[in-house]
Amino acid sequence: MIEVEDVSFSYPDGRQAVRGVSFRVRPGETVGLVGPNGAGKSTLLLLLNGLLGVPGRTGRIRVGGIEVEKSRLSAVRRKVGFLFQDPDDQLFCPTVGEDVAFGPAQLGLSEAEIAERTRRALASVELEGFEDRIPQRLSLGEKKRVCLAGVLACEPEALVFDEPTANFDPRGRREFIRLCRKLPQSKLIASHDLEMILALCGRVLVMDRGELVAEGPAAAILGDEPLMLAHGLEKPHSLLHPHPHGKMPVVEK
Ligand code: ADP
Repeated sequence: MIEVEDVSFSYPDGRQAVRGVSFRVRPGETVGLVGPNGAGKSTLLLLLNGLLGVPGRTGRIRVGGIEVEKSRLSAVRRKVGFLFQDPDDQLFCPTVGEDVAFGPAQLGLSEAEIAERTRRALASVELEGFEDRIPQRLSLGEKKRVCLAGVLACEPEALVFDEPTANFDPRGRREFIRLCRKLPQSKLIASHDLEMILALCGRVLVMDRGELVAEGPAAAILGDEPLMLAHGLEKPHSLLHPHPHGKMPVVEK
């Protein structure tokens, strides 16, 4: 679903943020992307839907089989939905309903289809009946779910999340994780919240200084303390003190 082949990227000031990165996300797979600040995670995510320009980039990126290049950006953006860290960057309409409908409206759908997709998307993030609410007056958790509904309303095949649980309170975080578990799309999730990554992701990629330095099953990678420490990360608590019954008490069902 996402194919990244030997991708490097330098910002216009010459700073090389991504160096020779290759990986794949298979259909339906949820993959975590971890690494210290400045590792190049956000840059890599922005390259995936062409938000960062192809000048400065080498290598090949395909999403749902479509090459990420200037002439195909609208097709790419139909395949992959982005959830940014700060919901205030993503919400700009006077009401929740208009915000969620914005994406589908760009796809040239009928009014009835737009309304139906908006209703379905709000239901899938458990915000039924929020259409007339004012985005700015919602809690962070609710705003984030409205953003997710806006992304889902475009019916993408892959989802890319940048720090989805940043600044959440524990309940908001648990609810978000529970909702994400129900989404069938392929997902790539960049975060410092390693417990969330462990709860959602089968596989994890570790980036440091622009390079992909490790890749493997989430518990094996995140549980590798020397690897975590070598790249400015910490082994998650739930792996330091495994639950006596072998279950990880990370997220309540
Ligand atoms: P992460 O998301 O892992 O914290 P980033 O992708 O934000 O890492 O940053 C990777 C590197 O690229 C860092 O060295 C950062 O300073 C640099 N960088 C990020 N944005 C820009 C920019 N707009 N111009 C120049 N350098 C940038």
